[in-house]
Amino acid sequence: MFIMSYDVIIGLEVHVQPNTKSKMFCRCRNLNEDVGKEPNSTVCPICLGHPGTLPVINKKAIELTVLAGLALEGEINTYSKFDRKHYFYPDLPKAYQISQYDLPLVYNGHLNIDGHDIKITRIHLEEDAGKLTHPAGKNYSLADYNRASSPLMELVTEPVIKSAQEAKKFCQKYQQILRYLEIAEADMEKGQMRCEANLSLQEKGKWRYDEEKGAIEPIGNYKLNGKVELKNINSFKAMERAIEYEIRRQTEALNNNETIPQETRGWDEDTQKTVSQRSKEEANDYRYFPDPDISPFVIDADWLKKIRADLVELPDAKIARFKKQYGFSLYDAEMLTADKNVAKFVEEVISELRAWVNTNGHNWETAQTKLAKLTGNWIGTELFKYFNETKTGIKDIKITAENFAEFIAIIFEDKVNSTAAQIIFKELYENGGDPSDIMKAKKLEQMDNDDELSDIIHEVIAKNEKAVNEFKSGKENALQFLVGQVMAASKGKANPQKTKELLEKNIKNNA
Ligand SMILES: [Zn+2]
Repeated sequence: MFIMSYDVIIGLEVHVQPNTKSKMFCRCRNLNEDVGKEPNSTVCPICLGHPGTLPVINKKAIELTVLAGLALEGEINTYSKFDRKHYFYPDLPKAYQISQYDLPLVYNGHLNIDGHDIKITRIHLEEDAGKLTHPAGKNYSLADYNRASSPLMELVTEPVIKSAQEAKKFCQKYQQILRYLEIAEADMEKGQMRCEANLSLQEKGKWRYDEEKGAIEPIGNYKLNGKVELKNINSFKAMERAIEYEIRRQTEALNNNETIPQETRGWDEDTQKTVSQRSKEEANDYRYFPDPDISPFVIDADWLKKIRADLVELPDAKIARFKKQYGFSLYDAEMLTADKNVAKFVEEVISELRAWVNTNGHNWETAQTKLAKLTGNWIGTELFKYFNETKTGIKDIKITAENFAEFIAIIFEDKVNSTAAQIIFKELYENGGDPSDIMKAKKLEQMDNDDELSDIIHEVIAKNEKAVNEFKSGKENALQFLVGQVMAASKGKANPQKTKELLEKNIKNNA
């Protein structure tokens, strides 16, 4: 059979709930998580669309959307407006949704994913819908409007994404930027971020991308394959799997000479398949028109400047700086900057270490790389392990940056061995405190008193004649055994390197 390979063309639509205190056009609380809230308890005549009420724009929602636009190097429509998008569905109490049609707040942005620049068509602001539940076995549905008219930022990309991995990475990086700038928590599992993908497969060389129209056009008399919209994606993993599944399904269908209809398909987590939800006939007519109750608005230079002031260092810039300034590997730099607050903690620890180095006779230039590496390792492996095990995060940490730095300094100076370091770290993680005090209280200091160590070594040599003789006859393993005996006798406090040296010296002298 002749197997054709196809170009994969993916575009994304990402809805995010920005962190505002109130809803988009009224003073009702914005509930980013509806969990545990009495249905229809945070509603008012404005968000329920009663006649005679007037919406008032939430300035904060505009500022957060513009800030996201600036972070993605988009252009800002400083003159903008809201439009009504008409459709009827019971989750929409007004029977229209207030959205933005031809003057979105942001247009022409971009986001770089592993060297591929993904063009962002627009980010606009709109209001969210309510939530419907359909009780099993009942002939009615329940409507909860707590979420209705909460602000929602919708980002749309050009159809330039080429793989499931790239789509997933785009959403992850967008989420990271939103969290860095405190625009949104954007937790997919909580519905605070909803990603939808549209995808089509086309024969190589038979299509082109018309940038002006933002659309895929056929070349010659080629007939484009239908575009499939993927919905019901509740995690990054689901996004990757749903797209991979669709690529396989469509490739198989096309190779069997089937046509791909334009349709909407939902991802089914249980079967790990997509299921047809509805086929799309012609494009919907939403009868957009400017909302007559909301005046167009202007973002003047002063306001824009104020918004721009919130544009902090973004993940890519931070990763580059962590590599350059502290000598972290790309892997470590990415891991340590994934969460802005972890990155901040790392920098506080390193800054404390720098102060320590300057007052303890070490040289920063030579010590810096090792200290940064120790810090990165203890945070990236041990601290993250505890976070995972206890389901906590950097916000709950009991170790201050100062104490963490002191702990790193103790290891740097070889004052404790690795077992003792783990004991101190566990205590620090659970209760905080001063690592030097913990080390002394638990008597974990390595023996740097030669007499004390010599006594133990003489004792071990006397008690283990067999192993001593084996070592004398060339068995290296025997020395390891003796080191172990000294470690045990010293309750783990002997410095292993020093122990080894002293054992060899003593055995040779007695030979
Ligand atoms: Zn309201």
